[in-house]
Formats: sequence, C-alpha cells, structure tokens
Amino acid sequence: MIGLTGGIGSGKTAVSDRFALLGVPIIDTDHISRELVEPGQPALAEIVEAFGPECLDERGRLRRDHLRERVFADPKGRQQLEAILHPRVRAAMRARIARLTAPYCLAVIPLLVETGMTDSVDRILVVDAPPAEQIRRVMARDGASEQQARRILAAQARRDERLAHADDVLENTGDLEALDDRIAVLHERYLALAETRR
Ligand code: ATP
Repeated sequence: MIGLTGGIGSGKTAVSDRFALLGVPIIDTDHISRELVEPGQPALAEIVEAFGPECLDERGRLRRDHLRERVFADPKGRQQLEAILHPRVRAAMRARIARLTAPYCLAVIPLLVETGMTDSVDRILVVDAPPAEQIRRVMARDGASEQQARRILAAQARRDERLAHADDVLENTGDLEALDDRIAVLHERYLALAETRR
C-alpha cells in the first residue's frame, strides 16, 4: 500500500483522481473518518462522552467544524480525538485492503506524518507544492482568506519534515496535465515493486 500525503491544497485529490483513472484502488482516510462518526457509530458516542453533547447538532450529527475549532488550539483534546479515531481508521483501512485484488492501492492520508501513521504504509508518496501555491489554491477552491489558509498550513507538518519521510515526491507545480506524465512513471514503478513482492 502506498500512503499518499501532502499539505493542504498540495493536490492530493487531483493526484488520487488520476491514479484512480489508471485503475488503482483509492482508500480515502478522510472519507473513512467521516463514516466512523455517523450517527449510531461507537466512535461518535465516545466523542460525545469526551467533548460533550454540544458536539452534536439538533439532528444528532457531529458538528465537525465545532470539534475542529476546539481541538485546533488544544493538543490534549486533539490527542483524545485521535485516540478515538485513529485505531478505527487503521482497522477500516486494513479491512478494505484485505478485500482488494489489485497489484497495489493508494491510501490518501493527509496527516500521515503528523499522526505517526508512517508505519502503516509500505511506501510514502508526498505531493509537494510551494506554500505560496498551496495558499493560492486553497483561497481559490474554498474561498478562504489568506489568513485562514496560512493558519491551516502552520498547523500542519513543515514541508521539509514531510519531505524527509518521502520515498517518492510528486512535484505538483506545473499545470494539471503535467501531473499525468509523472503519475504514469510512478504507476509503472509501483506495479514493478508490487510484482517483486509477490
Ligand atoms: P486538501 O488538503 O485541502 O484536501 P488537496 O491536497 O486534496 O487539498 P486538491 O483539492 O487536489 O488538494 O487541490 C487544491 C485545489 O488546487 C483544487 O481546486 C485543485 O483543482 C487545484 N489544483 C491542484 N493541483 C493543481 C495544478 N497543478 N494546477 C492547477 N490547479 C491545481
């Protein structure tokens, strides 16, 4: 399994969409995390126990923005939340991988380095873009202010720290078409590596 990571707006989705077009199964940990906190899920009950009923909206759904704000400036709260979610994310990832028959798969893990999940993957692919470019993209995509974009960037791993963990780096600095050639090269490499592991 290849773990795909990168800072906000680096282009993880753009990259994983392209691998998906090549037939590579994509495991999206953001998606798994959202499923894990749907009403009725044990993780949601644990979150309410830890953070209080104000985490829920009137329909009993998790107020993700509220929780994100609360743990943003509270490392202990963040640890608590991670302790609830991460083991479950790992288990769900493992269960999905066990069902796959493709030569390799890609797990999109935005906070791979920050959350110490580096051991859960066979190889790390970092999508890299200059911070100024990340900020531009996030502002354009989300209508975020420059200040908001900078704040999120500052809370994530530093670029050099993330790159230090990379087995492969995908520079997403050109246009989107330029990505296709680089992804084709990586795909061949990953297929060859999967072959040697058989
Ligand atoms: P997040 O961490 O916020 O989920 P991400 O890493 O998944 O972000 P994307 O959503 O793939 O990043 O990219 C951010 C925005 O920048 C998107 O609107 C995307 O279409 C655009 N984008 C990504 N790469 C490029 C590129 N090479 N050229 C132009 N636009 C790009």
